[in-house]
Amino acid sequence: MSGLPTAKIIAVLHRSDAGPEGGDTCPHCGASGRYVLTFLCDDGVTRGAMSGCFQLFRRASGPVVALTRKACEKAAEARTSRRTLASWWEEILAATTRLGSGEITPNEHRALVLSADGRRREWLARKGYGQYRRAS
Ligand SMILES: [Zn+2]
Repeated sequence: MSGLPTAKIIAVLHRSDAGPEGGDTCPHCGASGRYVLTFLCDDGVTRGAMSGCFQLFRRASGPVVALTRKACEKAAEARTSRRTLASWWEEILAATTRLGSGEITPNEHRALVLSADGRRREWLARKGYGQYRRAS
């Protein structure tokens, strides 16, 4: 693996799903597979990779990268199961769309994501999920 950028991932913008048969191609290494993550880096460049290569990139510290990735997965689950997506995931997705279009800054995005996640944590605590698994 040569030529990995030194830029850090700051948010996952999108996760595409080629379906159970796979058939998509990793933009990073060209391997075939099912899911491609599209992510914004701190140099302002949007890149793509499948999850294996995604792990090779550096990422910004804190929970935002993991939360934005989780929000993409939750959205896909909700579509498949025809369930309503929790409002905090909706908010994280909306904030990330605005980040991707340049409407808000990475700092504004982080504040919105952490605020939505704070409400998710409060809800989990109220429901008695004291030992919930962290998204990061
Ligand atoms: Zn790859």
